[in-house]
Amino acid sequence: MTNVDADTGVLAGEPRMLIDGELRYTDSGALFDVEHPASEQVVGQATDGTVTDVERATAAARRAFDESDWSRDLDFRYHCVNQLHEALTQEQERLRRIVITEVGCPVSVSGSQIESPIAEVKHWADHGRNFDYLVDTGIHETQLGPARRKIQYDAVGVVGAITPWNVPFYLNIAETVPALMAGNTVVLKPAQLTPWSGTELGRIIAEKTDIPAGVFNVVTSNANEVGAALSADPRVDMITFTGSTATGRAILAAGASTVKKTLLELGGKSTHIVCDDADFTACLPMAAMFACVMSGQSCILSSRVLLPRSRYDEGLEILKTMMEQFPVGDPWTPGIMQGPQISAMQRQKTLGLIQSGIADGARLITGGGIPENLPTGYYVQPTLLADVDPASEIAQTEIFGPVITVTPYDTDDEAVEISNNTIYGLSGDVTSADDGRALNIALRLRTGSVTTNGHSFFGITSPFGGTKQSGLGHRNGDEGYREYLNSKTIGVRP
Ligand code: ADP
Repeated sequence: MTNVDADTGVLAGEPRMLIDGELRYTDSGALFDVEHPASEQVVGQATDGTVTDVERATAAARRAFDESDWSRDLDFRYHCVNQLHEALTQEQERLRRIVITEVGCPVSVSGSQIESPIAEVKHWADHGRNFDYLVDTGIHETQLGPARRKIQYDAVGVVGAITPWNVPFYLNIAETVPALMAGNTVVLKPAQLTPWSGTELGRIIAEKTDIPAGVFNVVTSNANEVGAALSADPRVDMITFTGSTATGRAILAAGASTVKKTLLELGGKSTHIVCDDADFTACLPMAAMFACVMSGQSCILSSRVLLPRSRYDEGLEILKTMMEQFPVGDPWTPGIMQGPQISAMQRQKTLGLIQSGIADGARLITGGGIPENLPTGYYVQPTLLADVDPASEIAQTEIFGPVITVTPYDTDDEAVEISNNTIYGLSGDVTSADDGRALNIALRLRTGSVTTNGHSFFGITSPFGGTKQSGLGHRNGDEGYREYLNSKTIGVRP
């Protein structure tokens, strides 16, 4: 199971899923391959679970929720989630190798995929421990006389968590640990390309924590129908999902017949509005870095840079220089900041969108293809396109590649209008020498979060979620914890 390749660092993960406390293969023994995107080699397998497997896992989670004390025993949950934190900390370096192997994320920037989520496990343990699950809201006047009201916050029930491949371990934690701490039971369905970030979590929970059988389940599969079955199952009370807007729509529709609570974190097409008074040498290198550092495979990326027409060429030159110097290459090499795209398909999609942008009149400033020195692995050159029509396909479609599109603008109003002209509303950046001007622009963006002047919106202590077709509900912050709870208002004698 644990083949570390001494030359490459590649590490194959746990091939078994976790159902009702048992680490197991699917009945037929079928496996699917896991590829290392930097070598294009198959480096191991995971069990190819079926609809029957996800139904078993759901039955186990239902039973554990309905028949055990899990949802009522906060002290025990605190103990278990702390155990999980300790176990993950012990296995941190193994997990890092597995994530690099599956995703191709560079070791130098792997902290956000490993250290951050492990720290968040501890955060949720403490947040859940300190949360007030029965709040007295005082006396309220009603037509029938006064009533004291208490609000109880209670676990939602069985939570199905469906996760994507771009930051798989982080999202497996972000979607399941607050749910567990709040008293829910969980069925996790990791993405096809990154099963081990899920199965390793299952193995660690089974082997190193007291989390009871059925409370946490992981079902891996190479088929989309397993996630679809989970999102339609009437025994599931809530779906939490991160992924594409197209799949989010399918999940929402599948949950409609049982009016499932649905938490969706979907695509984005965010802008970075760079004002004419901004310090370009400070903000544009950062903009280029963010576009490349996860190979552009990030939903919160400000991939549309809006430059003031008065300083357009100056801005393009800085972006070009930074992107041409960006360290792209083997993810295991320290100092490399951009690895490959995760798959041949993702690379093809990125290259196709770049071509469509050029066909629609965009000017290719740098990149646009496969780096000559990296013929193996799914690499894409950091790519800068200028003069991009904000209505064109490349300005409206989430790329998930190391690509910045640049559009000139004349006034702040126009920049806001271009930013808001998309089906998405996830995040954004505004940079100006004047904090007040940056804030005023941020206040007008129809989006879930905005960074102004490099001061990041993102973190475990503040809510994060999308508007429009970028999602429903929030992760992080107290708001993110409350998503996994139902509130019940109880009137009592004053
Ligand atoms: P991508 O298109 O980038 O692979 P998706 O949003 O399709 O990303 O996938 C994210 C997750 O959603 C994966 O775990 C995938 O298996 C799952 N998934 C795909 N299709 C469906 C569906 N119809 N219902 C539920 N889950 C699905």
